[in-house]
Amino acid sequence: MSILNADLHCHSVVSDGTLEPEVLAARAAANGVELWALTDHDEIGGQHRAAAAARAHGMRYLTGTEISVTFAGETVHIVGLGFDADDAQMKRGLEETRGGRGERAKEIAAGLGQVGIKDAYEGALRYVGNPELISRTHFARFLVEIGACKDTSEVFRRYLTEGKPGYVPHRWASLKHAVNWIADAGGIAVIAHPARYKFTANEEYALFTEFKAHGGRGVEVVTGSHTAAEYVKYAETAREFGLAASRGSDFHSPDESHTDLGKLPYLPGELTPVWELLADRIQ
Ligand code: AMP
Ligand code: MN
Ligand code: MN
Ligand code: MN
Repeated sequence: MSILNADLHCHSVVSDGTLEPEVLAARAAANGVELWALTDHDEIGGQHRAAAAARAHGMRYLTGTEISVTFAGETVHIVGLGFDADDAQMKRGLEETRGGRGERAKEIAAGLGQVGIKDAYEGALRYVGNPELISRTHFARFLVEIGACKDTSEVFRRYLTEGKPGYVPHRWASLKHAVNWIADAGGIAVIAHPARYKFTANEEYALFTEFKAHGGRGVEVVTGSHTAAEYVKYAETAREFGLAASRGSDFHSPDESHTDLGKLPYLPGELTPVWELLADRIQ
């Protein structure tokens, strides 16, 4: 069961990816993905298209999303898998989570304006596929376009992270709500790329403990955002907390992502893969 090319984390134009769900499905299939999930940020508008495209390519499919959560003053991402894509509570919760993005984007643009980058709001909007989902990634693409930085990583480093001119703190969903929306809709909540958060050991312990207490059941172990050493570290964390393990590239764009769909190591054999818990939710 661990030896399965499952890619359960990626983004389309419905959030901050650059490809349409159908193009992603074709790319995943060409790369040998057997079980796929599209996990757009705070949005499930692409789910029916993704499931249909997966079917057309002979891939199995799990519904997916990646919910932005504020925990201990940091943004944490919770991936939801295998939920009912028409669930009303889930749709409402995600709509609320998306709600503040427009205002935040205007504040980001104002911050960038103060360091001489003009019309960033309009510039970022040209990269947006979904008007409800303007994200820092769209600003990053605009700043690369105007030559302010050589790539999007440099934009984040110089402009869009804490302490930088285009950084605007934001309150996302609560951990409890995100986990509940997913679980109540029949799915499984998974902590995304845990190595990416700037937590102390105590804060990370609190995240995993509270996540479990709310009903969270999985953690990403093998992801495009982790190093090989971090696969080992979070395999151990999965065992310690009795969580199932997930695998996903976090692919956004052929021009930006260093890990392509399906192109990452298999899960360590001793872990329970999340898809084992979701056998009856696979389409
Ligand atoms: P937002 O939800 O608007 O705060 O944007 C978050 C998104 O920005 C993430 O999902 C990533 O796609 C992207 N991102 C965050 N940090 C970086 C980084 N250091 N380099 C490139 N992209 C990043
Ligand atoms: Mn993203
Ligand atoms: Mn993420
Ligand atoms: Mn992601």
